[in-house]
Amino acid sequence: MDQKFVIGNWKMNTIAAEARLLSQAIADGMGIEDSVTVVVCPPFPYLSLVGEILKGHRVALGAQNLYPEKKGPFTGEVSPTMLLDLGCQYVILGHSDRRHKLGESDTFINQKVRVALAAGLNAILCVGETLEQRKADQTKKVLDQQLFQGLDGLSPATLTHLSIAYEPVWAIGSSGHHATPQQAQEAHAVIRHRFGQMFGERSAQTLVIHYGGSVNPENADAFLRRPGVDGILIGGDSLNAEQFLAIVKAGIAQAQSLVEAA
Ligand code: PEP
Repeated sequence: MDQKFVIGNWKMNTIAAEARLLSQAIADGMGIEDSVTVVVCPPFPYLSLVGEILKGHRVALGAQNLYPEKKGPFTGEVSPTMLLDLGCQYVILGHSDRRHKLGESDTFINQKVRVALAAGLNAILCVGETLEQRKADQTKKVLDQQLFQGLDGLSPATLTHLSIAYEPVWAIGSSGHHATPQQAQEAHAVIRHRFGQMFGERSAQTLVIHYGGSVNPENADAFLRRPGVDGILIGGDSLNAEQFLAIVKAGIAQAQSLVEAA
């Protein structure tokens, strides 16, 4: 996979003025390089505003969640149809914030993945173990279950619009723990293996797997150069245009070295 991905998850941050400034700075800092797919995922209320600013730039718009119905009596929820209408191409699903703080189950996340893909959105399914699970040597078991249940019943025809983000919960945000590139590579291999068992070796080889968890301009290159790490999902540092663009730059450098090596 020569293409690299850099995805910014703004989570529940920014007000309108900040979202405007941040997206404008990212748009202005993007070159014409197309070896990196760059996605920003602002909060729902600013999708429209950010989408307008990104128009004509090489940055795609993504959402942080959706509700798995087209429309109806689901007060406070946002449908895939609405996301498409706002220009979203990507949606993050099953983020650990939603799994662990809002109690989302693998079954519910599976409904979202299916509906997102059926609607034509690119779904980024987040998976990852907690610190307790890692310490108890359950990482593989947890990843297997999240993939097995989260991807249940997917039509093989939609798989090209699916990517997986490995985000060890213990390495996200200001937890104080950092995963090593080696740990990321190992988990990505587990994910690819399980995916191959579910959907066949060819699909597993082309599956895009991102790493997320305290990635910054200093360590981005070390993750991106690992075999099987196709992209980076960034929380904290996606709120700073300079830092975010520095990670995009690391992605471009890696993508170029892959082309040169081929
Ligand atoms: C995230 O929450 O998806 C994430 C990767 O956060 P951070 O980069 O801040 O660890």
